[in-house]
Amino acid sequence: MKAYKDRSKEELLTLKNELEAEYRKFQDLGLKLDMSRGKPSAEQLDISMGMMDVLNSTTDLKCREGIDCRNYGVIDGIQEAKELLADLIEVPADKIIIYGNSSLNVMYDTVARSMTHGVMGSTPWCKLDKVKFLCPVPGYDRHFAITEYFGIEMINVPMTPEGPDMDMVEKLVSEDAAIKGIWCVPKYSNPQGITYSDETVRRFARLKPAAEDFRIYWDNAYNVHHLYEDDQDTILEILEECEKAGNPDMVYKFSSTSKISFPGSGVAAISASYNNLKDIKKQMAIQTIGHDKLNQLRHVRYFKNLDGIKSHMMKHAAVMRPKFEAVLNILEQELDGLEIGSWLKPKGGYFISFDALDGCARAIVAKAKEAGVVMTSAGATYPYGRDPHDSNIRIAPSFPPMDELIQATKLFVLCVKLVSIDKILE
Ligand code: PLP
Repeated sequence: MKAYKDRSKEELLTLKNELEAEYRKFQDLGLKLDMSRGKPSAEQLDISMGMMDVLNSTTDLKCREGIDCRNYGVIDGIQEAKELLADLIEVPADKIIIYGNSSLNVMYDTVARSMTHGVMGSTPWCKLDKVKFLCPVPGYDRHFAITEYFGIEMINVPMTPEGPDMDMVEKLVSEDAAIKGIWCVPKYSNPQGITYSDETVRRFARLKPAAEDFRIYWDNAYNVHHLYEDDQDTILEILEECEKAGNPDMVYKFSSTSKISFPGSGVAAISASYNNLKDIKKQMAIQTIGHDKLNQLRHVRYFKNLDGIKSHMMKHAAVMRPKFEAVLNILEQELDGLEIGSWLKPKGGYFISFDALDGCARAIVAKAKEAGVVMTSAGATYPYGRDPHDSNIRIAPSFPPMDELIQATKLFVLCVKLVSIDKILE
């Protein structure tokens, strides 16, 4: 297909007329579709329903160490849950704390504790004039919302196909002691589905931050969320790399079973060095008498081990893969060669990230909405909701049923074409 930019004004205007007629047909359908929600479909939730049957009134509810899980106690998680989640995120079982139902909550807590009480004895961030975080972009809006909530200044770091721009990360972190953290989704990143290369992970581990309380916030949300059985990304284990590089305390690794079992009713965890875990436990002992051990037990008895999780995730993949492929096929068929957008083909995770021509994302999302399709708001993938290029749009294929997803994607590409023609003719 001939690139739009190489077409004459007349050609573009004729095409615009045709596309507008198509768009009006979509409007007449009165659609009400949603491609914004990065959550599993009901079909995926059904995969985990067996978990509801593993505990009942006749079940032995003691954990392996003989503790009654119906009662208070065991603040950092039952041993078998530690082992399961440690295997999941490839860390030793004595370097993990099991939390409640949400890893985002653990991340929020980690920032909140650093604000009020500092990190391992350093000055609480709230007493400093300035605290800054590096934010690889595009990224996860809820990460950015946490740092914005605490008044932490956010600095954009562009993503590359290998992970964040490490030249920039190394330079900023070593020069500015106000930089206290960086948000990372290292595997099947939200929204691009990028997995950090070995070199990127090693460069992270070898950082020489000016701030002794600088921490890498390593959010392993999509660790086992592959789309294919035989073509999966792998990643170096960051805790081990940090230890090898003489920076054992520099990273917090977050994880949960949210998109493995039930979002909002999963099990979350943090892994870090012994020094960090000691620091965290001081706060935890004030905060709670213990998290939901019955849910921990339920997860362990259902999955049994890492192999159990892996085969379970292949059932998710069987539902997700055709949806990703349907969206990617439409993008390819309709947009390839037009030079009005680009996208990556992720091998896992929950999203497809679309980059429109500069200055078009907001208008595309608005146009889709006018015809009844809700996309993630343009700008959401950037700190403060401000995409400096107004170009990135996050597509979430998981939630809608297939027929709706296909219809929504067809409308989306139509909106991309219409808005791009206007932009080129400007
Ligand atoms: N981290 C990332 C990168 C996510 O995309 C999500 C959910 O979409 C979460 C964390 C939320 O995790 P949880 O349900 O464990 O709070």
